[in-house]
Amino acid sequence: MSREPELPDGGPEAAATLAGGGGGAAVLEPLVRTVLDALAAGAARRGGPVPAGSPEGLGAEVARALAHPDRGGALGRLTALLAYGSADPAEPSCAAHLHCPPLAVAVAADLAVSALNPSLDSWDQAPAATTLETLLLEELARLVGFGSGAAGVLTSGGTESNLMGLMLARDLVLGRASGRRIELAGVPGTAPRARIFASEAAHFSTRRAAALLGLGEDAVVPVPVDRELRMDPRALSEALRDSVSRGERPVAVVATAGTTDTGAIDPLRECAAQAAEHGAWLHVDAAYGGGALLSDRLAPLLDGVELADSVSLDWHKLGWQPIPAGVFLVRRAETYASLARRAAYLNPADDEEAGYPSLLGLSLRTSRRADAFTIAVTLRTLGRDGLGRLVDACHDLAHAGAAAVRAHPRLDLHADPVLTTFLFRYLPSDPARADRVNAGLRRRLLREGTAVVGRTELPGEGPGRVRLKLTLLNPHTTPAEVERLLQGVVAAGKAEEDQL
Ligand SMILES: *Cc1c(COP(=O)(O)O)cnc(C)c1O
Repeated sequence: MSREPELPDGGPEAAATLAGGGGGAAVLEPLVRTVLDALAAGAARRGGPVPAGSPEGLGAEVARALAHPDRGGALGRLTALLAYGSADPAEPSCAAHLHCPPLAVAVAADLAVSALNPSLDSWDQAPAATTLETLLLEELARLVGFGSGAAGVLTSGGTESNLMGLMLARDLVLGRASGRRIELAGVPGTAPRARIFASEAAHFSTRRAAALLGLGEDAVVPVPVDRELRMDPRALSEALRDSVSRGERPVAVVATAGTTDTGAIDPLRECAAQAAEHGAWLHVDAAYGGGALLSDRLAPLLDGVELADSVSLDWHKLGWQPIPAGVFLVRRAETYASLARRAAYLNPADDEEAGYPSLLGLSLRTSRRADAFTIAVTLRTLGRDGLGRLVDACHDLAHAGAAAVRAHPRLDLHADPVLTTFLFRYLPSDPARADRVNAGLRRRLLREGTAVVGRTELPGEGPGRVRLKLTLLNPHTTPAEVERLLQGVVAAGKAEEDQL
């Protein structure tokens, strides 16, 4: 960087100036300029999707930067290092994860949220943001197809949303069966074993939620999937029947609408019917696939999501928001009952009677950012149609990438894309080395700093399951750029083979 940015008027007093209030802008403006300059400088120094080199080398640089004694330059220096040391999802060759490049308008809106710091645990900390979140959730509930009785909350992401869905399921289903309030009495020790049914390709947060809820990870019954990693509805039906015949209690079916690795969408209507038949809750994990609801072309893939008892959506995936922008929705607000809380200092009954609403009882958290704001600004700026075009562009790009894989003799496509991601692998001349070569070539690309490609494994046991993954979330990437990325994969595969 050509100049070391300094705090305006220097010194500790300036560093302690507040961002909010009428006078904050004067101090904030040059600091934001410092950040913007440092972002550009850091990205220019990186020159690719990720810094070349080893984790050790970058780690040492971070440690040195933290040990630097100069205070005035800390903001610019550390921002430049953060930018240099980032895997930047705005780079076309950074395409591993559901890690989106945020929209500029959302980042700007996020600055407003950070400066004002509304906290949604009480109206008197977030007067406008409280209403804004409520209205945004009504809009998102309509997008899902829920009626007017829906409710929801902004979350840190799919992990928290999945936990909430399974918590409400536990409290409702076990509460109904035992005649006790589970949130007060705890999980009954002697009652039939509670079970959750989720596909083998469901997100691991489902199991973790079962552990946190006192049901144990083993309460999650893995339901077999087909080749595309979609839940097999006949296998679900058998698993439910077997469980009931063992005297267990099905608490929830978790259907995934868009698995993390392949975008597979479980048969939602069948899952809903089977859950209903057994008195179980249906949670739809649409953390990834919920973005399809923005696109006229892809929305039909989520047919049946409106039958869910609860849904997870992540706007920090197909929604182009800064993390966190998770959304949790329930179809019937009354199923939220076990989370309701009265805290004398936050939502006293007399305040609520006097017309001061509170979102406290909708969240697991107390202090909570106004993440609804960036989503609302984005939706008002682009509209559902504008966002839908971005989703369609990424979907097209995934198909272009899959076609390029299919056309290449050294690449093997696992299955056609459903949403914006696909699995594939490099075919080495010795098939026995496929797993090692694919895993190694991905680390080689990271070391070179030339590409960030995903790596996963197909469900099951044994060798031959390692797959590479491209997740296309940058709507401005071109098919030619995806082809170049795939050529880089092939070159890295050859280099890896030569080295073995
Ligand atoms: C990303 C993802 C999650 C986890 O969401 P976070 O926002 O990372 O907590 C859960 N389920 C699916 C299907 C996902 O793709």
